[in-house]
Amino acid sequence: MNPAGKPGKTGSLMAVEVALARLLEMAEASPIRERERLPLAQVEGRVLAEDLISTLDLPPWPNSAMDGYALRVADWTGTPLVVSQKIFAGQAPEPLKPGTCARIFTGAPVPAGADCVEMQENAEVQADERVRFTEAMAVGQNIRPQGQETTVGELILSVGTRLGPIEQGLAASLGRAELEVIRKVRVAVLSTGDELIEPGQALGPGQIYNSNRVLLCSWLQRLGYEVIDAGILPDNLETTRARLGELKDVDLILSTGGVSVGEADFLGIALREEGELTLWKLGIKPGKPLTFGHFRGVPVIGLPGNPASTLVTFALLARPYLLRRQGVKAVEPLKFQVPAGFDWPKPGNRREYLRGRLENGRAIIYKNQSSGVLRSAAWADGLVEVLEDRTLIEGDFVGFIPLSDVLG
Ligand code: AMP
Ligand code: MG
Repeated sequence: MNPAGKPGKTGSLMAVEVALARLLEMAEASPIRERERLPLAQVEGRVLAEDLISTLDLPPWPNSAMDGYALRVADWTGTPLVVSQKIFAGQAPEPLKPGTCARIFTGAPVPAGADCVEMQENAEVQADERVRFTEAMAVGQNIRPQGQETTVGELILSVGTRLGPIEQGLAASLGRAELEVIRKVRVAVLSTGDELIEPGQALGPGQIYNSNRVLLCSWLQRLGYEVIDAGILPDNLETTRARLGELKDVDLILSTGGVSVGEADFLGIALREEGELTLWKLGIKPGKPLTFGHFRGVPVIGLPGNPASTLVTFALLARPYLLRRQGVKAVEPLKFQVPAGFDWPKPGNRREYLRGRLENGRAIIYKNQSSGVLRSAAWADGLVEVLEDRTLIEGDFVGFIPLSDVLG
């Protein structure tokens, strides 16, 4: 048995983590550094190109976490207190008059001199409008101290952070209206195969509809990239050469199909002629063959053509590569361990990424795991990782990579 996750080769196959490490090295060798300054509302999906340093204390002043009364705990001796002021959120209070309390609402600044907020549920307003408190109170209670979230000068988000709604909200809370981000990555998508036609046309003999094109184009758009849809590439060397040559102003050419060392591997031939080519046989299922190379200086990744293989290799290899080009540090998909809800009696020599879902806390898998079956992934919530050379019985732990994590 191969010890879990140990890097290395399985026979002549390259382990996934080895291929990933090489791809990431190559990504680091050609970083995308050009930046632009964008309004905060437009940075979703972008990568931060500056360290975000707080120029504020947050909150800027102590404020109330409750609707209630602000007072000095020592002033409460059992005798009801006069309400000397009313403080709403957005107002600037007067210092608290000694021996009184202040009516206060959530988010309002706590007046100087008060050291506690008591919630209104524990306060009784007397006939004379003085307030009696029914519970013991502690100094600091229900007060959100100044700077509890951030203090001036603190590093809040560092260069290379991917920005989403939460980071946008955080930047807004610090008063930032614009952020410096890495420019959009430009990816050209090519689908290779004489058998492919586009949906909307009538299927002829031997033809299938192109599913990878829209799958990858949408996925790349979700990642915040600019997609150059380069259409279908026939299995023909001349056209392959010519089409690759047209795709100059892009950061990556991403193609599918035609990488299986078969006779129709024109992508490989073109890369060998005009640049360089690395063809990897990966210890991964689905998705054994993967090409990396350059065509006249432009990086090219060739993913296997079967749609489930395209999905798995894009998620595990191409996506991290693209993120690292932008300087993102955490590029690997989220993975957690869950008990298997199935038996795996026959060990494989490749690491399997089964399309599965969680049911009652256990991973179950789609009945047909063929790499041509994209329906398995539509049924699934995640990829269930079964290590090479392993058998499983129900209840053994497997890795689970949520698709929701890798799709964005
Ligand atoms: P290939 O790597 O070109 O030998 O393709 C492997 C398998 O994936 C073949 O069955 C192809 O017909 C299929 N395939 C390749 N590209 C696509 C595509 N864009 N959409 C759907 N199936 C594809
Ligand atoms: Mg093909």
